[in-house]
Amino acid sequence: MSNLLTNTKKQNLKNVLPTGIEAQSGDTLIYALGGLNEVGKNMYCFEHDDEIIVVDAGVMFPGENLLGVDYVIPDYTYLVRNAKKFKALVITHGHEDHIGGIPFLLQLVKPEKIYAPQFAKSLIERKFKEHRIVNTKIELIDHDSKIQTKHFVIGFFNTIHSIPDSLGVLINTVNGRIVETGDFKFDLTPVGTNSDYQKIAFMGSSGIDLLMSDSTNSSVEGFSISEKQVAQSLMEIFTRNNSTRIIVATFASNVYRVKQIIEAAIKNDRKIAIFGRSMERMVEIALKHNYFDFNSSSFIKANQLIHTPAAETCIICTGSQGEALAALSRIANGTHRQVKVHPGDTVIFSSNPIPGNTEKVSGVVNKL
Ligand SMILES: [Zn+2]
Repeated sequence: MSNLLTNTKKQNLKNVLPTGIEAQSGDTLIYALGGLNEVGKNMYCFEHDDEIIVVDAGVMFPGENLLGVDYVIPDYTYLVRNAKKFKALVITHGHEDHIGGIPFLLQLVKPEKIYAPQFAKSLIERKFKEHRIVNTKIELIDHDSKIQTKHFVIGFFNTIHSIPDSLGVLINTVNGRIVETGDFKFDLTPVGTNSDYQKIAFMGSSGIDLLMSDSTNSSVEGFSISEKQVAQSLMEIFTRNNSTRIIVATFASNVYRVKQIIEAAIKNDRKIAIFGRSMERMVEIALKHNYFDFNSSSFIKANQLIHTPAAETCIICTGSQGEALAALSRIANGTHRQVKVHPGDTVIFSSNPIPGNTEKVSGVVNKL
């Protein structure tokens, strides 16, 4: 699907988009290589004459029908063919469906510059290490940054999401002003820096020609509870189960949720052990960059678990969706090397099953 913000003065026929739409010189083209009408592999492109700006480069996690597939990535052919125009890749936040495709993209085509906010930058740099990608710098951006190219002036605004440093993007072109919100929620008492409602209101009043907005479950009626309210429920569960070991499974991508689980554990005099590769990586980055203000003495390694009384430990792990290889499934199966479930353990799923995963989650619950 494509949208065109058209220039009034039509000139030579220049571009034929992947969709077959023909564009004129001076048009601003907007198209998605992924992420439109689907959850995952977000990748929006903004093209004007000899420049292409790409916002996000995500992956999609395969459904049950794609056995043996690790990731689904967009088709990058159009960018490869127009590599010379590829001026910038701008990242809104550090979730896999926004950054996971970067190593695969870079194998085929490199933008002149990559921009990302801090948390995303750290996560991408970890990916570069794992994929042995060298000599690729990421420029740090925040809500005050401005990127200027020949045809685009790009600005940013803070949005609140489940991961720190989430940005919305304002793209100014000669043909109009575009806002790409990135992922966001409205939460008046969030954990983390709130959305910049003033800036958003200001942009609205000064006029936006195209709003591109993405928010999971936005079509569901009603309000989601504030992230702060989750802290209360967590505290209640921790106090109610003060004599047993507590295992909490959640998404590593929900950084603020993990932060609140750690806080609840510390307040209840428990030591925390982290399991699952993505969870360990995220917590390490959050601690290193002071997103988590916790003393390292609050954390224990796997091998210290047996020496710590059950009622004084809290295990935080991946696998809240029943993923077969995630830490929780292995714990439930009895195949985890370091953690065995004990009778009386309290297991908390701190996330709702994503539609389609309910059966897998029930499977894990039954094994537990
Ligand atoms: Zn996100």
